[in-house]
Amino acid sequence: MFQKILIANRGEIALRVLRACKELGIQTVVVHSTADSDAMHVRLADESVCIGPPPSRDSYLNIHQIVAACEITGADAVHPGYGFLSENAKFADILAAHNITFIGPSGDHIRIMGDKIEAKRTAKRLGIPVVPGSDGAVSDEKEAKRIAAEIGYPVIIKASAGGGGRGMKVALTEADLEIALQTARTEAGAAFGDDAVYIEKYLQKPRHIEVQVFGDGFGRGVHFGERDCSLQRRHQKVWEEANSPALNAEERSRIGGICAKAIADLGYSGAGTIEFLYENGEFYFIEMNTRLQVEHPVTEAITGIDLVHEQIRVASGGGLSVRQEDIKFNGHAIECRINAEDPRTFTPSPGTITHFHTPGGLGIRVDSGVYSGYKIPPYYDSLIGKLIVHGRNRVECMMRLRRALDEFVVDGIKTTLPLFRDLVGNADIANGDYDIHWLEKYLAKEE
Ligand code: ADP
Repeated sequence: MFQKILIANRGEIALRVLRACKELGIQTVVVHSTADSDAMHVRLADESVCIGPPPSRDSYLNIHQIVAACEITGADAVHPGYGFLSENAKFADILAAHNITFIGPSGDHIRIMGDKIEAKRTAKRLGIPVVPGSDGAVSDEKEAKRIAAEIGYPVIIKASAGGGGRGMKVALTEADLEIALQTARTEAGAAFGDDAVYIEKYLQKPRHIEVQVFGDGFGRGVHFGERDCSLQRRHQKVWEEANSPALNAEERSRIGGICAKAIADLGYSGAGTIEFLYENGEFYFIEMNTRLQVEHPVTEAITGIDLVHEQIRVASGGGLSVRQEDIKFNGHAIECRINAEDPRTFTPSPGTITHFHTPGGLGIRVDSGVYSGYKIPPYYDSLIGKLIVHGRNRVECMMRLRRALDEFVVDGIKTTLPLFRDLVGNADIANGDYDIHWLEKYLAKEE
């Protein structure tokens, strides 16, 4: 087992990882920017190293500084959290070259999944169902038209190097194709420095369902069920649940089994998420994330398993603490992402939190890195906390969530709490009856 883990992240996830390390008796080092000297993860860690000024590229993305911090403190492993360097293959390779363990998959696996065309090809080869579309990048309009005619309109053009919903354009008919292709290419080139795009069928009312997987480092793969993350705004997840209200136990075990086998065949090590669009009973792979997800706590709530413990165990060569047959799904969990944003326009609302009171009681978990008097720096993403609620079934979970949202107090800044208080009373949400466009339509109606 590791002696000392360096946490290369900030905010709630840095604290989340820190807690797991403490439970396992592992020493912790955190790195931070000058804007985060007062952050909770810095206060609670055994050691901290300031690695640079506020902009992420000079601090949380500064590989040399982070490696130097490992060497100074003698850390033998790095947990990257999510975002920042968590899916940076070069970072994983550099750590390996310094004999420091990256708590995540190999650089090669990160590379394959970071390229969406390569990821889709790999998924298909491993027997995972994919969205019908081009086999690889489309070279010109003529080819795009031929493929679109084959799969049928509407189609979506996506950037191979894509992420965060950028470089995606929908063409409803052939008349839209030329312009969609051009804009997607230009956007992709500007955002990622790579203008390769591919084409796939545009699904009209899908749900976003993702499967939590783990490779144990010895060639075995398991799944921890799915999460439904269909409630999104601008392709950003807002509310996540496990299990999905749309799946039955047979579908869960079928798609879970396919994913676990794929992970084993790939020889993947550590945590991963295989993301699908789900429509009319069919799953369509869209991408794989090779890291821990923001929404991992809903899976922890229904399985009772600490996924960060498992990540650390696997990375240290100790394998998983559970086999597939030990993983049972108990009840229902929902996570609300509390952002420092206007609840309608979603514009960021940094500033000082004058009062912070979190709900408690049975089935309530709050993962957050803020406190009363904390000043939210304007440089990073606006997530200030996550409310995760567990109940014996979805009805109980929703009852508890409503009560917890009432108790939650964040003064001094705007947050997305009022949005969740509205959602929890909505009939479609109560029935679990929503797709990936539901929230955008709801917000448009409210305006
Ligand atoms: P990114 O990595 O940029 O987030 P994804 O491939 O994960 O891109 O897609 C993000 C979101 O875009 C999905 O959750 C879904 O809302 C939408 N999307 C992507 N592909 C399709 C598709 N073929 N049909 C319909 N919607 C899609």
